[in-house]
Amino acid sequence: PSAMREISLEMPKVHWSDIGGQESTIQRLKETVEWPLQHKKTFDKLGITPPSGVLLYGPPGCSKTLLAKALATETGLNFLAVKGPELFNKYVGESEKALREIFRKARQAAPSIIFFDEIDALSVARGEGEAGGDRVLTSLLNEMDGIESLNGVVVLAATNRPEIIDSALMRSGRLDRIIYVRPPGYEARRQILLIQLAKMATADDVDLDGLAELTDGFSGAELVSVCQEAGLLAMNEDADIEYISQKHFETALKGIRKTITPEMVK
Ligand code: ATP
Repeated sequence: PSAMREISLEMPKVHWSDIGGQESTIQRLKETVEWPLQHKKTFDKLGITPPSGVLLYGPPGCSKTLLAKALATETGLNFLAVKGPELFNKYVGESEKALREIFRKARQAAPSIIFFDEIDALSVARGEGEAGGDRVLTSLLNEMDGIESLNGVVVLAATNRPEIIDSALMRSGRLDRIIYVRPPGYEARRQILLIQLAKMATADDVDLDGLAELTDGFSGAELVSVCQEAGLLAMNEDADIEYISQKHFETALKGIRKTITPEMVK
């Protein structure tokens, strides 16, 4: 299979309201992406250049992809998503061609967002001395440097391992906005659970506040798993069950292995 076949425009249907917490990150993303589109004249007048790209970093399962998708939906931008490991590791030798193709498509579809998930895969490939790894980095830098003149293409990248990202990628004019996406605190967990529960048939005894408290240290993805698992537990009890109860949630959350370790949290 060719790497290129996987590059296609997506129409994400994620809205800000689907995301629990992350208010300040959402605000910063809006500024970064909407201002240059809506207030280009002001930037020119003030003599400042808008930020060109954003690096989102933080522990896994904590809404980086969700934020990128919601940004595209809510600002009406076209969205191209690329997974680092696929682009940088799987198709050795094809990466440069694929990169050119991605940026070409993005320019064609402008205003648009290119989202590089797991961008650290490039550093991993280079670290392992993958053939042509340096050339791939160079061509990514070239493409990104070419963007400002092209207008309307925003690059977003995400990683769990910011410490291994090549610093050249984060220089001014490239991924020059670096945003930490934190794991959900109590209020955000409560909101994420609320969003999930709203789609589920739950019994009256379900205690949202209690569940938010019991899930300290859980990622957003793990909270979603708890809800799914609770539903399956309920069905296990009775295949025709009407509602999911508090005890199902409490049993479910005990079975989740947490992935966020203290080192990942800033
Ligand atoms: P990774 O680093 O593993 O790629 P990520 O930070 O990109 O993870 P997402 O893919 O955005 O994480 O989140 C995974 C899933 O977890 C989402 O599809 C969603 O179901 C749920 N989720 C995560 N964070 C939130 C949130 N803040 N609100 C609602 N759902 C969330």
